[in-house]
Amino acid sequence: MEDLSKSISKMRKKYREIFRTTVDAIKQRVDEIKPKTLDGDIFDNFEKNSDGEKWQIAVLDMFENDISHEIVRKWKEILAYRENFSCKGCATCCNLACSEFAPDELSQRAQLGDKFASQFTSIFIPYESTKQAEKIYPEYIQLLKDNVKEDVYFYHCPKLNECNRCSDYENRPQICRDFPDNPLSILPESCGFYEWRLQVEPVALMLHAMMEIIDYYKQKIPVLEARKVRGQEGRP
Ligand code: SF4
Ligand code: SF4
Repeated sequence: MEDLSKSISKMRKKYREIFRTTVDAIKQRVDEIKPKTLDGDIFDNFEKNSDGEKWQIAVLDMFENDISHEIVRKWKEILAYRENFSCKGCATCCNLACSEFAPDELSQRAQLGDKFASQFTSIFIPYESTKQAEKIYPEYIQLLKDNVKEDVYFYHCPKLNECNRCSDYENRPQICRDFPDNPLSILPESCGFYEWRLQVEPVALMLHAMMEIIDYYKQKIPVLEARKVRGQEGRP
């Protein structure tokens, strides 16, 4: 069985490669709509209504109306493709749910209206200790210890019966039906969606990179900030 740590480090390496390629691809699209005679960089401060500022606005518009829609469409395709796979009933996700939040924090969040926390706390109960959780999936717990600096809390579902089957499968909550809904989460090889995850991982990593890069551009392109400042100063 392939070691989980190796999978994680492979994914990180793959992400770095995909990130670099995606940076180039987005830069090319930004440059394609740059006015031919314009000097300067997309992150420069241009005069109001200049060609440079119009270019920056066009780029932000492209992110909002083209690239963001592409990301959403591709993400939906990934999730639709998941329908070709099914749960094998290995019970790992019922036996070992992780959260960055302690039980009392989760309850507080649920009371404040956090829908996910509310569903999570209605299903899972905490393990008494990490040692107890370790018995279920030692490799995974070790992986978290090695890779995650923050605290992680482990939970399990009391509806799992002695045969490792859901005792209320027909009425299982939406959160169980939707799992796994993130193709970048780590799944055990025993999971029926493991192969789905493997197949869609490169596209999912690319979409993740696109979102990160677009966010960077949005923060660094000064046009919105400049407009805000002008507005505050009451200039035309
Ligand atoms: S309700 Fe059923 S499917 Fe959902 S976590 Fe519990 S045992 Fe698993
Ligand atoms: S880990 Fe995957 S195969 Fe196992 S119970 Fe959960 S969804 Fe089903």
